[in-house]
Amino acid sequence: MDIYDEIGVKKYINAHDTYTVYGGSRMAENTLTAMREASRSFVDLSELQEKLGDRIARLTRNQAAYITNGSSAGLLLSAAVCMTQGDPFLFSRLPDVSRCPRNEIIEMRCQRNAYDAAVSASGARLVEIGDADETLETELRGAIGEKTAAVFYYASSRYAGAAMPLEKVVEIAHGARVPVVVDAAAQLPPVENLWKFTSMGADLVLFSGGKTLCGPQPTGLIFGDPELIGYCRRFGAPAHGICRSSKVGREEMTGLYTAVRNYMELNREETRRRLESMVQNFIDAMNTTGAFRAERLSRGPVGQTYPRALGIIVADFAAEELAAAMRAGDPGVYIGVDRSFGNAVYLSPLNLSDREAETVTAVLRKNVLKLLQC
Ligand SMILES: *Cc1c(COP(=O)(O)O)cnc(C)c1O
Repeated sequence: MDIYDEIGVKKYINAHDTYTVYGGSRMAENTLTAMREASRSFVDLSELQEKLGDRIARLTRNQAAYITNGSSAGLLLSAAVCMTQGDPFLFSRLPDVSRCPRNEIIEMRCQRNAYDAAVSASGARLVEIGDADETLETELRGAIGEKTAAVFYYASSRYAGAAMPLEKVVEIAHGARVPVVVDAAAQLPPVENLWKFTSMGADLVLFSGGKTLCGPQPTGLIFGDPELIGYCRRFGAPAHGICRSSKVGREEMTGLYTAVRNYMELNREETRRRLESMVQNFIDAMNTTGAFRAERLSRGPVGQTYPRALGIIVADFAAEELAAAMRAGDPGVYIGVDRSFGNAVYLSPLNLSDREAETVTAVLRKNVLKLLQC
């Protein structure tokens, strides 16, 4: 009996992905231990933030780092520091940006997404460039003006076709002395992404702590330029102002530090073999039912370098029906539906123990047989 049994909340196996709505990912034992130890003593939170930031920056080949309570909070803080540039008066007035000389943030229309609300919450005016098909250099050059505080860029592979390459964005923005902020929240693995975007010249780069990094759910990282990270340290929580509602505790900070250390030390070859073997088993199991044409996908949903099992359904039921049936069972199993491949489901090995992977296969087989009999 655990806490979920006690309060009567259903537990699920997560064969979908590191989605916040299910709880994201699992922390390692040493991460939980660090959090328990941290909770026993009081500290100066600013000192902890600085020392952990310095250590995390060194571990990840970055110049400076700041711990937020998630990438969404990181977007808000990044927008705030780019507009206020270290001025405590301007910061204290946010989301009123009427006194900020630079209060516009440029985004590509093809990259607009659900997390933009965090950027707008800063008070910034969003200026869109480009369209669904392409984004021309002339549009970025033309949109940058004396009110431009930053250009925000989303690293997801979903936008790759219509977006301008990051190299070009950095070149044009830096030519006009405008900083570039990259949202790379879910872009791990590969591990190299932790320093790739900063080394390409991005001024601030955001990662979630509670996705593949397996840190506490309410954590995230901002890497980047030491001056801008200095503003984050000065104005981010626990300081009063617009970012006070995105605070991070000492438990989460130390937990995230431990998770980053674990991630850097991970045996990647062994992990890769484990995930590949799960995916192959899923593919074999799906093909055996006769209801799928199953194949290996080499990438995660936003371009991450881990494999998934895609099952294109060749029988007479809908992907959504199968997903709903697997969710409704006991244990419930979350799987992915991806209509860009037609009537298709996918299974991600990322959040599964070996035992859970076996359960997923059994639950899948049972539900497919039931749907075939309908
Ligand atoms: C997950 C995600 C976020 C939000 O991250 P949190 O750490 O959950 O706040 C922001 N942007 C993108 C692109 C994401 O995938």
